[in-house]
Amino acid sequence: MSEEKKIPYKIYLNENEIPKQWYNVRSDMKNKPAPLINPGTHEPMGFDDLRPVFCDELIKQELDNDTAFFDIPQEIQDFYKMYRPSPLVRAYCLEKALGTPAKIYYKFEGNNTSGSHKLNSAIAQAYYAKEQGLKGLTTETGAGQWGTALSMACAYLGLDLKVFMVKVSYEQKPFRREVMRTYGASVTPSPSMETEIGKKINAEHPGTTGSLGCAISEAVEVATTNPGYRYVLGSVLNQVLLHQSVIGLETKAALDKYGIVPDMIIGCAGGGSNLGGLISPFMGEKLRGEKDYRIIAVEPASCPSFTRGVYAYDFCDTGMVCPLAKMYTLGSNFIPSANHAGGLRYHGMSPILSQLYADGYMEAVSVEQTSVFEAAEQFARTEGILPAPESSHAIRVAIDEAMKCKETGEEKTIVFGLTGTGYFDLVAYQKYNDGEMTDFIPTDEDLKKSIATLPKV
Ligand SMILES: *Cc1c(COP(=O)(O)O)cnc(C)c1O
Repeated sequence: MSEEKKIPYKIYLNENEIPKQWYNVRSDMKNKPAPLINPGTHEPMGFDDLRPVFCDELIKQELDNDTAFFDIPQEIQDFYKMYRPSPLVRAYCLEKALGTPAKIYYKFEGNNTSGSHKLNSAIAQAYYAKEQGLKGLTTETGAGQWGTALSMACAYLGLDLKVFMVKVSYEQKPFRREVMRTYGASVTPSPSMETEIGKKINAEHPGTTGSLGCAISEAVEVATTNPGYRYVLGSVLNQVLLHQSVIGLETKAALDKYGIVPDMIIGCAGGGSNLGGLISPFMGEKLRGEKDYRIIAVEPASCPSFTRGVYAYDFCDTGMVCPLAKMYTLGSNFIPSANHAGGLRYHGMSPILSQLYADGYMEAVSVEQTSVFEAAEQFARTEGILPAPESSHAIRVAIDEAMKCKETGEEKTIVFGLTGTGYFDLVAYQKYNDGEMTDFIPTDEDLKKSIATLPKV
């Protein structure tokens, strides 16, 4: 107990301790993630194949499985200083409320206007686009955090931005839309009638509330048909996990200051970027055989890519215009129910995390929406922060693991990623508070149908 007292509520690094390099976990993987392949020829996509869609420097990062560390350009380091380092918080109050001997820490990434970790990669991607002399970027956004983050980054660097926002979120979250517009982005609900693919999806699924997969197709179409524009993606890709390693590197540095070694690291998994970033340096140690940690991905029961999907090549988007990625997937035309954790409604998963999961380096669990909001409420009432519904998936499992420790008396150390805040998710909180929240779980039949449409590779 006395030793424990020395650990402050918040472990802050100082400004000079913000990482100056990103860590590429692929460099330590024996089985590298499978390459992106061309949907027509099934050949791996090389630098030239990807150039019409992505920025040059980002393609190099995407394809590099060997370089362990990438220097973070000074301008990105300076931008990071505006909102980083983010605090690693000891959840003393939650521990007390739970009566658990477990020690719980969370890395809080919600301390910026976008309200999530997504800014870490947004500024990097916008920076390389600017360096290449591009005019602007296109992207999709689900819940709106990525679109907001990219709007902030593009405003800072003077780039034009066009965002396709999943229709259900566009309607449910008008305020997030206005934040993006305030930063200068144009925002279109997806599927729209502005693109060929949007028109097609609208015709085939009248009244659809959209999905990330649809919005990606639209954004890619606009990027590839407008000179000076490229497409950027807020999760899933190797480059995004690389940028997000800043989360894990800071977490590790903060823990190391106090000699704390976690037993388990928990994060929510939508496309896998926050979890991939948080675990990177720890996974590196695990892959090199230096240490062992339990690493747990948490996904919604309504969109269970890891726990009920298949590990196969699939389209990254509904319109099937993107390269194929090998990942845990529910099928690219799986349109999940209007779950409130918008950022977790993606049919696929990061190829890096997929390979690590297939190789047994991490676990995955799925949790139901109502129990997620119970955890969110308990967390808000004890730790004070109103968590994003996405983040609350990790809170759910952190609490569950802490309660197991209460039964066994084990003083395990739990670290989880608190990816963001829930101020724009109050419609969801209202549903929960009014007792109107439901738990939708797709049937095996539903999943079989969408998985049956996987491309034959
Ligand atoms: C986007 C988002 C997620 C999920 O995305 P990942 O790429 O899986 O990290 C989780 N939490 C918040 C707050 C988000 O905005």
